[in-house]
Amino acid sequence: MTVDVSSILKELGGKLEVCGEVTLPDTEFLGEYRFSEPLKVEGNISNNGKALRLNARVTGQITTNCARCTKEITVPVDFEMAENLMQGEGEAIVDEDVILFKDTAIELDDIVLDNFLMNLEGKYLCSEDCKGLCPTCGADLNKGECGCSKENIDPRWSQLLDIMKNNEN
Ligand SMILES: [Zn+2]
Ligand SMILES: [Zn+2]
Repeated sequence: MTVDVSSILKELGGKLEVCGEVTLPDTEFLGEYRFSEPLKVEGNISNNGKALRLNARVTGQITTNCARCTKEITVPVDFEMAENLMQGEGEAIVDEDVILFKDTAIELDDIVLDNFLMNLEGKYLCSEDCKGLCPTCGADLNKGECGCSKENIDPRWSQLLDIMKNNEN
């Protein structure tokens, strides 16, 4: 999604409504996120004399996997973003908090993706009390017990446990 800011670039106090959609590529960052549908971007860009200020809300949904049982889940996306934008070329970064853009076109996709990653809530779960997968056989414990009883310890381990118990006495 590209926004043409030529109309407000030289006008102090100028304001431009931003409303549209961005389609982001599937992304891996502490998890896998698939953008099955575009995210909606709504807000504005205003000229405060020093820079162009972007304020926008991003909403939509993503598909990812439960961090415990790996089931595919859809989670809502809803965050606010605020950025300072200045016309300029690549290297001349005046300030780290400023995003440079060429000519009069601001490309929002990368800005939205960066903000999406910053707003990630860590691990997503299919439900708060997801039981996860059995560490022994990999079965989904939400679907019931798999038969690997917790007392069913490998004989080599039980010998070790006996030794440990004896040492305690
Ligand atoms: Zn789960
Ligand atoms: Zn099991």
